[in-house]
Amino acid sequence: MQAWDVIIVGGGSAGLSAALMLGRSRRRVLVVDAGRPRSRTAAHMHGVLGRDHTSPLDLLAAGRAELTRYDVVVESGEVAGAVPLDAESAGADGLSFELELESGARHAARRVLVATGLVDELPDIPGLAGQWGRGVVLCPYCDGWEVRDERIAVIASGAANAHQAQLLRELSDDVTFFTGGAALPPATREGLEARGIAIEERPVAEVLEDGDGRLRAVRLDDGTELGADVVFVAPRAVANDGVLRELGARFMRQGGAQQVIVDDDGRTSVRGLYAAGNVIGPRSSVPWAMATGNLAGTAMNADLVEEDIRRAVERRG
Ligand SMILES: Cc1cc2nc3c(=O)[nH]c(=O)nc-3n(C[C@H](O)[C@H](O)[C@H](O)COP(=O)(O)OP(=O)(O)OC[C@H]3O[C@@H](n4cnc5c(N)ncnc54)[C@H](O)[C@@H]3O)c2cc1C
Repeated sequence: MQAWDVIIVGGGSAGLSAALMLGRSRRRVLVVDAGRPRSRTAAHMHGVLGRDHTSPLDLLAAGRAELTRYDVVVESGEVAGAVPLDAESAGADGLSFELELESGARHAARRVLVATGLVDELPDIPGLAGQWGRGVVLCPYCDGWEVRDERIAVIASGAANAHQAQLLRELSDDVTFFTGGAALPPATREGLEARGIAIEERPVAEVLEDGDGRLRAVRLDDGTELGADVVFVAPRAVANDGVLRELGARFMRQGGAQQVIVDDDGRTSVRGLYAAGNVIGPRSSVPWAMATGNLAGTAMNADLVEEDIRRAVERRG
């Protein structure tokens, strides 16, 4: 079993940012990454200063290349199990956690950061999944400007995406809000109507592509086809939080979902266990994910320094 200062589970924007800070602090770091970052189907990302309109996968590849300067190992794989170590197993290195990869390899570390992101569960409408990240997107700030003045469809999964429709109305005169037949609160309906956002009550049956694989229309239950250049949805965010649960982190109810409790630096309720990025919240922003990883990386290093001081003092007697 190999021993590390820190193991980072998940090598997306959050995990790699943490690894950068730890590597620069001469910590021995293992990043284990399953290679399924949330925005992998998107050709471009936006709103990322210095990287606007570039590939999210290129960003991660550049991040990995930067890490080769430091004592950071990035390994492809999936963490399949995790256990806290008791004082006896901790040994002289002060190891706190043991992780097992799907390959069967076992690694132990003094600190663990979980940066495993989330899974976007799309509404169950045929055609949506095949267009995900291209003709079907979720974030007006990430993908709205590219479709300014185009025909924008917003498919509701709840009243929450009425706000999406209002944000998109800033970018186009042609926005349709598909309610799926759900009742809208009167104030929401009034706000949509007042701003010229069309409201379509008939349920959506399918999202259609043209011969080149580009989104072209939304087909309703009664067979009517309404032309659309892009569809915005609000997927259900399901955090990849298995490792956090196995290690005993505490969760709270937040917006109808269970969310791990962390402080501003990503500390969970379990000593030495940290979390960053989309696993701690569903925001759609690479800069935010990077910031949480950066903060967790520096906090973990500071935490390790405190431990190093304590041990050095004990050794002196
Ligand atoms: C379609 C789409 C478009 C987007 N466009 C933009 C945009 O334009 N601009 C923007 O700022 N944001 C955008 N986002 C949001 C952005 O993708 C996320 O905010 C960001 O990826 C979150 O980073 P993360 O590191 O938390 O998670 P991720 O990037 O999802 O990385 C998590 C990593 O952990 C790995 N992992 C999970 N479980 C395990 C395990 N058990 N063991 C090992 N590895 C594991 C995953 O495979 C993945 O590689 C978009 C999102 C989507 C869905």
